[in-house]
Amino acid sequence: QEDVFKKIVSHCKEYGFVFPSSDIYDGLAAVYDYGQNGVELKNNIKQYWWQSMVLLHSNIVGIDASIFMHPTVWKASGHVDAFNDPLIDNRDSKKRYRADNLIEDQIGKYEEKIEKEVAKAAKKFGDSFDEAKFRETNPRVLEHQKKRDELHARYTEAMQGPDLEALKQIILDEGIVDPISGTKNWTDVRQFNLMFSTEMGASAEATNKIYLRPETAQGIFVNFLNVQKTGRMKLPFGICQIGKAFRNEIVARQFVFRMREFEQMEMQFFCQPGTEMKWFEYWKKHRLAWHEALGMGDDNYRFHDHEKLAHYANAATDIEFRMPFGFKEVEGIHSRTDFDLSQHEKFSGRQIKYFDPERNENYTPYDVETSIGVDRMFLSVMCHSYTEEELENGSSRVVLKLPEPLAPVKCAVLPLVNKDGLPEKAQEIVNGLKFHFNTHMEAKDSIGKRYRRQDAIGTPFCVTVDGDTLNDNTVTLRYRDSMKQERVPVEKLREIIEDRVSI
Ligand code: ATP
Repeated sequence: QEDVFKKIVSHCKEYGFVFPSSDIYDGLAAVYDYGQNGVELKNNIKQYWWQSMVLLHSNIVGIDASIFMHPTVWKASGHVDAFNDPLIDNRDSKKRYRADNLIEDQIGKYEEKIEKEVAKAAKKFGDSFDEAKFRETNPRVLEHQKKRDELHARYTEAMQGPDLEALKQIILDEGIVDPISGTKNWTDVRQFNLMFSTEMGASAEATNKIYLRPETAQGIFVNFLNVQKTGRMKLPFGICQIGKAFRNEIVARQFVFRMREFEQMEMQFFCQPGTEMKWFEYWKKHRLAWHEALGMGDDNYRFHDHEKLAHYANAATDIEFRMPFGFKEVEGIHSRTDFDLSQHEKFSGRQIKYFDPERNENYTPYDVETSIGVDRMFLSVMCHSYTEEELENGSSRVVLKLPEPLAPVKCAVLPLVNKDGLPEKAQEIVNGLKFHFNTHMEAKDSIGKRYRRQDAIGTPFCVTVDGDTLNDNTVTLRYRDSMKQERVPVEKLREIIEDRVSI
């Protein structure tokens, strides 16, 4: 699985999806650029989200707030005081880790030991193996389970607060070693704020420390009154935003899964207090259905309900996707109560309330948030689509089986030879289609090579123009996944393709 992931990362670079940032300077850690194909795929994901959230719901609107915000916003939201990760260094390797990650990995090791015992016994006893009974009675399994549960309980308690000394003590007691140096030479655990800051203003006296937003949500909360009043919005209603967010992640790993600059698609859905659980359930269902509608396999998604809630939340769940490195969070759905609007009311001194004409009273609405990372969504689509296939004739191909509406290029028009009037005819076909969906022409190299290149970027339709086309105005239409080919009249192309690629 790790190997497949490596291949996906290099495929992304080789075919113009994702490049390391500032590549000619050897990159910048956990920052990436999207290339000519990546940007199209990413734009299609954003459009698919915007369409389903903003355009299909009459009570949801969008905004585009700025990245810089008044510094008090981040005091009110709690980010200045509490948007921290517990950090620990190893003195020998000089590597920096998240203390919570080290402990979670250790919990995972006990899990692995349990599963190893079970697998060993299953192999030994074959059909007569009673797995449930084995788990309940085998002394080694029970021992590992006990250690795991004790560690989990200690860890959960230490994370409340969090208690930094307790976290360090767990790392020492468990004998956790640095994977690089192999030593237990740990520093104390300290809090590390994930917000990037910079200065605004030109003269030294007048400069002000400001932050790059670590989430897009606050841009929506501070505009609640503006949008509600100018849009004459009635509860329940939602406000959406797509935009960049920045977090100084301590450990950046897994490619675009955890970046320091990334993009979020967020909605805050404001409702009457007391109705928030109904809407939380509604959005859980609706958001999962949105993912499933892409056809990437319903089995590849699961909910992960949070037991431990942030102090302002009364329900929270993640939608996880099966990545090559396990099930991972792609989207969070949180019932945030009236926390954010109330905090902004307190810190700004403005009354941030909704006048309910039916109840004839003012109150602070409750809020249910859906928050999805564009880049994580992009990664899930890439991981799902990347396929290596052995073909009947003994050759092989790499094909990106992207959901067709998300493909960067929808149709490639290929003149069989680069002469005899075929390129001109191909260009004429491109001109007729390009206003409806992304259509490219490719004339160089053998037709086989061109098919492979289009497969590798996930183009669902290839149209081949040959000598007969000039006489009867028909072309060969090739389908990416089945590689089936059929002869169709040029004037039918738009309808056939549009039917499958429109978002
Ligand atoms: P994690 O636990 O993985 O750090 P989180 O719970 O902090 O994520 P949220 O604050 O809920 O994430 O952010 C909402 C969404 O934003 C996440 O579901 C994820 O898709 C995306 N996201 C968060 N941090 C990053 C990051 N560093 N890089 C890419 N996407 C991110």
